[in-house]
Amino acid sequence: MTDHFPHLFSPLDLGFMTLPNRVVMGSMHTGLEDRSRDYGKLAAYFAERARGEVALIITGGIAPSLSGWLAPFSARLDRRSQLRRHRLVTNAVHDEGGRICMQILHAGRYGHHPFCVAPSAIRSRITPFSPRALTTRGVSRQIRAYARCAVLAREAGYDGVEIMGSEGYLINQFLAPRTNRRTDRWGGSAVRRMQFAVAVTEAVRTAVGPDFIVIFRLSALDLVEGGSLGEEVMQLAAAVEKSGATMLDTGIGWHEARVPTVQSLVPRAAYSVLTSRIRAHVGIPVMATNRINMPETAEALLARGDADLVSLARPLLADPDWVHKARKGRDDQINTCIACNQSCLDRVFARRYASCLVNPRCCNETELNVVPTRVPRRYAVVGAGPAGLACAATLAERGHDVSLFEQDSRIGGQFNLAARVPGKEEFAETLRYFRRRLVVVGVDLRLGVHIQAPDLLKEDFDGFILATGARPRLPMITGLDHPAVHYYDEILSGRVRAGNHVAVIGAGGVGVDVATFLAMGNDRNSRHPDGYFREWGVDPLAATRGGVTDVKTRPPVPERRIWMLRRGHGKPGAGLGRTTGWVHRARLRALGVEMLTGVTYERVDDEGLHIRVGTEHRSLAVHTVVVCAGQEPQRELLAGLERQGRPVHVIGGADQAVELDAARAIEQATRLAVTL
Ligand code: NAP
Ligand code: SF4
Repeated sequence: MTDHFPHLFSPLDLGFMTLPNRVVMGSMHTGLEDRSRDYGKLAAYFAERARGEVALIITGGIAPSLSGWLAPFSARLDRRSQLRRHRLVTNAVHDEGGRICMQILHAGRYGHHPFCVAPSAIRSRITPFSPRALTTRGVSRQIRAYARCAVLAREAGYDGVEIMGSEGYLINQFLAPRTNRRTDRWGGSAVRRMQFAVAVTEAVRTAVGPDFIVIFRLSALDLVEGGSLGEEVMQLAAAVEKSGATMLDTGIGWHEARVPTVQSLVPRAAYSVLTSRIRAHVGIPVMATNRINMPETAEALLARGDADLVSLARPLLADPDWVHKARKGRDDQINTCIACNQSCLDRVFARRYASCLVNPRCCNETELNVVPTRVPRRYAVVGAGPAGLACAATLAERGHDVSLFEQDSRIGGQFNLAARVPGKEEFAETLRYFRRRLVVVGVDLRLGVHIQAPDLLKEDFDGFILATGARPRLPMITGLDHPAVHYYDEILSGRVRAGNHVAVIGAGGVGVDVATFLAMGNDRNSRHPDGYFREWGVDPLAATRGGVTDVKTRPPVPERRIWMLRRGHGKPGAGLGRTTGWVHRARLRALGVEMLTGVTYERVDDEGLHIRVGTEHRSLAVHTVVVCAGQEPQRELLAGLERQGRPVHVIGGADQAVELDAARAIEQATRLAVTL
């Protein structure tokens, strides 16, 4: 027990094992699971989280059979020869005093390979392969595969398994009429559709015996048409409890759902209302998931009785010491997951290794180490945007003497602008984290200083790091000196108020942010779960199948009329991540933002912005033109410093502004700082 967050830190007795607290590291595929050679890295990644005091870890999904693969040659456990690599993981976690369950994930029709199977031969919208419908014997074979996989997991030293029954994977496909059109004993009524989940749970429990954790992850809300009804979810919860599940985990939304469920615009703990209903139906512990990123949120939902445990995946990628810091009351030092998905989910969906935008060490624990320096030096870091902050803090943590110069009166650079965009408020947490970290590691922070090269050279620094960021690119458009023209930073910072008719030049990440900012104004309704449910047409009780409705009440469309323009023909925000781009576009469409592509800019004058779209000339009678046409490096200090012969390093936007993103900036800064 601890005075800080008493519910979060009350132990949970499972009968044969006691969990020391209520925080579970939820399953998150990292890509390291898929290759035998990466299991050493995977072990180090999990060991670090176990050391950080998380009560229980659940691995990324491991297929129980070849047909259950997520993709060709992805992780699978169906033979004893694979045990050795898993033992690296279980031993590493146990050595740190932790506990770990292996998730058994059969992808069903979500498998990206020609051997995929499903209850019925219905292809999903998001995969190119049509699944083969399982025969009745094939169904029994898959049930046996789950049981064998669980037995092998036990042999490999895992403390339990999680049966993946949500997110639209095989078990979920059996449950939903959308994907189960079978006429044998595995399809038809709700009770029959449930039999596969029940049979798998029973088979696993029988195979592993009583003193082994069996978690069933059920889909609390499918968020697709033809998904389960709320009452069917309750029946399933009771049925898997009876079949031998130790605990219930919850998943929200199938991968093909068109409702954002993990993005930063989803209010924190919005879905705990669902676990609270499930919990009332069963006697076993229930876990809440999705957008629980800070201890006070977790504590509040546990205190309300919405769940027995919280499952955090991305927040533990962002900060492996999340639990330890919370227990010590040092939650202001937590490196908070900002739900950007940029370095985790987006990379995994692109078949790359996961990491974390705010913690580039994630999944690089064996090589990106912050070790004390043997030769402490004095460094000047110029610019306190994400790159400068990460570099200064890491250098100081290693024992260097660091001064950080920032011309603004606050740290953060462009993160301050991002935090003002509706749905991106979480970015402010990163600034809170760095503000505190600079103090903890002892960086000499000098705000409001527009430092010049001669002043820097007067001080006795051994080296300089330029993290002076980027400035807006000035496109070649006639009339850009017109008073109606402004740059994105003027608008997002609030220094300039846009008029009622606005043209946004550029439809990259910044253009999308500016259009959202202008269109949503001060609307904060969507930050509340009810407002968010209304905006995205979610029926959390799932009285309608899958909990999706046609009734969407969007934020009030502002009086403002907004055009977002680009020269190219691709979709707006095309460079944004796979998990976020569609959400931004859907929201802008709903807000009535007019998106024009294939635009040629002609001029700006008192009548507005004149453009050509194909052969058609158009004059947009706008009061404000906002330029979001990318950035250029800002590194005027470089020449003055380079002449002096002391080492100068240029990082972040000052180094390369094209396709600059915070993930690249922070990673580059951290990698530099560990080598100096
Ligand atoms: P960007 O993604 O490069 O977009 C710049 C936009 O300006 C494009 O629409 C480009 O499209 C247009 N453009 C470029 N040169 C132009 C010119 N000379 N005249 C007129 N238009 C021009 O840059 P950004 O929007 O500044 O974003 C910078 C980086 O931050 C990107 O990597 C972005 O992904 C990232 N970011 C991410 C998020 C997020 O939510 N994940 C948010 C903000 C920024 P056309 O050439 O087709 O006109
Ligand atoms: Fe969270 Fe973004 Fe890190 Fe993913 S990359 S864990 S969403 S902060």
